[in-house]
Amino acid sequence: MNGTCTAADAVYAYNLNGNCYLNLTNRCSLRCRFCPKFNGQWDVRGYGLRLHGEPDVDTLMSEVENQPEACDEVVFCGLGEPTLRLGTVLETGRRLRERGYRVRLNTDGLSNYVYGRDLLPRLAESVDAISVSLNAQTAAVYAVNCRPKTPDAYAAVLDFLYRAPDVVPDVTATAVAGLPGVDMDACAEIADKIGVGFRRRELGHVG
Ligand code: SF4
Repeated sequence: MNGTCTAADAVYAYNLNGNCYLNLTNRCSLRCRFCPKFNGQWDVRGYGLRLHGEPDVDTLMSEVENQPEACDEVVFCGLGEPTLRLGTVLETGRRLRERGYRVRLNTDGLSNYVYGRDLLPRLAESVDAISVSLNAQTAAVYAVNCRPKTPDAYAAVLDFLYRAPDVVPDVTATAVAGLPGVDMDACAEIADKIGVGFRRRELGHVG
C-alpha cells in the first residue's frame, strides 16, 4: 500500500496505476446501491478510505508532494463526491496546476444542480479533465442504481455533460458494467451524441 495516513485509518492520498487519488470527503449527493461504503466496505483495493475528518488544502498539497511514487495525474475522487467540498477542490486544483500537475475531477455531475448555478467555468480553472458518472441510459435506470434524492437528477447529469466540453478540454462519461438494467452500448451512444468520451468501469474499481 502506498497511501499516506495522517490520522488513524484515514488515507487522504493513494497511488493507483501511476495516478495520485485524493480522498477528501465521504459525503455524497447520491446513495448508489453498488457503492462499497453503502455495503459496509470502506477498503478499496487495499486502501482504507473511511474518513474521520476532512483534509484541508495544505494537507492535500503535502500528501501529493510526499507520495512515494511519481504520479501522472492527480485525481479528486475519494469515496464521496469531491465537489461537496467545492472550495477545497478549486483551491487545491489551482495550486496543483500551478506546480505542473495534471488534475482530474471524478464527479457525479450533480454539482450545478446541488449549488444551483453553473460551476463549470470555475472548475475549468482548477482541473484539466472531468470524468462524470453517467451510469445509466435512462432516468429510471439511474434511479434504481444511484438512488438520487430527486427524480430530475439524471437530467442534471446530462446537462452537466452537455455544458462541460465548452470549458474543459477533456470530458469523459463513465458507466459501471454489470449493474441491473444498465446498457453499456446505450450509455456510450449518449456520450457520443453529447460529444464526450466514454469509459467503461468495472464494479468495485475506483479510478
Ligand atoms: S457517487 Fe460514488 S461514492 Fe457516492 S454513493 Fe455513488 S458510488 Fe458511492
